[in-house]
Amino acid sequence: MLERRFVLKAMALSVGGLLLPASLVHAAMKPRITDVRFLTTPNRTRIIFSLNQEIKHTLSSMSNPDRVVVDMLDTDLSSDLNLLTFSDPIVRKIRTDELSNGTMRTVFELKDEATSRAFLLKDKSGGKPRLVVEFTATGSNDSARDEPAAKKGKSVASRDANKRDIVIVLDPGHGGIDPGAIGAGGVKEKDVALAVAKRVAKEINATPGYKAFLTRNDDRFVGLTRRCTIARSHQADLFISLHADAFHIPSARGASVYCLSERGRPTPTPANRRSLMLGNTLLSAIANTPSLSLHFKSIKQARFAVLKTNEIPSVLVEMAFLSNRQEELLLRKSSHQASLAKAVTLGAKNFASQTGLA
Ligand SMILES: [Zn+2]
Repeated sequence: MLERRFVLKAMALSVGGLLLPASLVHAAMKPRITDVRFLTTPNRTRIIFSLNQEIKHTLSSMSNPDRVVVDMLDTDLSSDLNLLTFSDPIVRKIRTDELSNGTMRTVFELKDEATSRAFLLKDKSGGKPRLVVEFTATGSNDSARDEPAAKKGKSVASRDANKRDIVIVLDPGHGGIDPGAIGAGGVKEKDVALAVAKRVAKEINATPGYKAFLTRNDDRFVGLTRRCTIARSHQADLFISLHADAFHIPSARGASVYCLSERGRPTPTPANRRSLMLGNTLLSAIANTPSLSLHFKSIKQARFAVLKTNEIPSVLVEMAFLSNRQEELLLRKSSHQASLAKAVTLGAKNFASQTGLA
């Protein structure tokens, strides 16, 4: 499940909230932290909270021990930051608390004295706003304030252009502190997404001329922007993000395929056209697998951050509903995971041959 608020929001508008409990509608409208990233340089640490909308915030510092409190007013956090593991020269620990008035309180415990500030970065191009909490080690000079050069991932450019493998990057959704959806029986989205992604990678890597990479190989938190960066660093020919759905109506079932929405554009960009093609080959592969079923028979479009890979054809597959008791049981089954993996692999390969990659 990813950014389900789009669906909830649309439903709340279309039915006037009548069919949804007030709390759900409210949750859908409330500002939410969607991603947390660390940017660490020797003298400065930035913690970047991606948000779905602008928020109000306050910052105050306290000593003994040195700590900084950032309050984000009326803001939700889907993951538990208290479990976030990191190693940083300035920040020792982060803990969060939801206050009774809905404020998200984040306390940063510092290893040493540091100046702090928090500011909202508003994206003028219509992207999502970010709240940046910045710590600068006291006594550090201004040169340390330069933006760190973007870390380049391992390049695979050394491959011979004529013999280049078709590179497929698989993105198991969620991970680490972010479990994603959790079924009534305790099955976590992050675990099934990883299990299926590993199976797809195995199938793909067993095919000559193809190479698969994962955005995470184990149970760890990876930010959405980082996932796109990983895909680009591998020079991916296509990118498939794997998720499991959840909905408040327990009978909802089946798989769905999402592409990035380009609302407001008169015609799709070439990259988006290729994403739609990839979405269609995946939809057909799922529809043609007897043990699998589709929730939506056609591609859905949404503004998922993980699909903003620019030039790389990218789709997000919701494999089944964890909120559906039967599908939760299926998602845990090895045979069902194998069917899903086969369908995803087939869809990816069909896309490769249709577009002349293979
Ligand atoms: Zn998800």
